[in-house]
Amino acid sequence: MVIESFVSLDRPVPVQPICTEWSEQAGVTLDMLRLDELDPDISGNKWYKLKHNLIHAREQDKTAVLSFGGAWSNHIHALAAAGHRFGITTVGVIRGEPSSELTATLIDARRWGMQLHYLTWADYRRKHDPDLIDKLLSQSGLLPEQVHIVPEGGSNRLGVSGCQGILAAGRVPPGRYDEIWLACGTGATLAGIALTASETMPDTRVKGVAVLKGADFLRADIDRHTQRALSNWTLLTDYHHGGYARTTEALRSLIISFEQEAGIPLDPVYTGKVLFALKDSLRTNAAHYRSKRLLVIHTGGLQGRRGMVMQR
Ligand SMILES: *Cc1c(COP(=O)(O)O)cnc(C)c1O
Repeated sequence: MVIESFVSLDRPVPVQPICTEWSEQAGVTLDMLRLDELDPDISGNKWYKLKHNLIHAREQDKTAVLSFGGAWSNHIHALAAAGHRFGITTVGVIRGEPSSELTATLIDARRWGMQLHYLTWADYRRKHDPDLIDKLLSQSGLLPEQVHIVPEGGSNRLGVSGCQGILAAGRVPPGRYDEIWLACGTGATLAGIALTASETMPDTRVKGVAVLKGADFLRADIDRHTQRALSNWTLLTDYHHGGYARTTEALRSLIISFEQEAGIPLDPVYTGKVLFALKDSLRTNAAHYRSKRLLVIHTGGLQGRRGMVMQR
């Protein structure tokens, strides 16, 4: 593993002005931080969550990284791509039965050399059981001491610390934005952004859009991720569109019209829901938002879009 090579991903990501009919009408300045453009394979927020995990693995002389995810997981995809690029053995523990037809995500992962293990939903629930992990590792010919284990989504302390570098990657100047909007799965990315904002942009509010149904528990998770209760963020829990990876006709039509107007593809699992929530908030809180300067973080995930037809 060549640690210097990680530097190749320490590059600026573009911030792009967005113009849509609804943002014009609301009188806001809307920009998008294009983490989806960071790299063709190691996309979006997942690189920032992996970065310090890979450095840590390297420093601890681990030769392999193991992590967990679903068959369309952006995290598994990014980990497999990073492992391939930087010469790290990767092991993916995948939720569900091996289907006769591999998903496009897992085809890529396998092509990049990731070793895949499948766990039934029942076994996946006990995925942190050391005996279970040891069994999977021995099937991969690895010893536990050789392996750095990263939780699902890359959402550990090292993942949060990587996400504290996201606004710097966008060269986002302090004081530029009134609000920063982004999607929340585990909330680790929001935690990193909120920590940066609390230190460098005290007047900026961070707005997270939960993509899971019933995500009120996430507020406590985010406090754990930040290791102190910050008051500069809000979590919106009413824009899940039925739950994780669920979509509605209204969401799909917003994604299509956004792509036509702004020329930017959105994934329906994460950033699509953020734009939907933002558009709705601009309409329902028009007076509050007039003249506000807003940044949306496009967290990537477009590879997972290949699965949307199958998931419905
Ligand atoms: C994983 C993911 C998220 C959610 O990140 P969390 O840190 O788990 O909240 C958001 N957007 C995309 C595209 C993702 O793949």
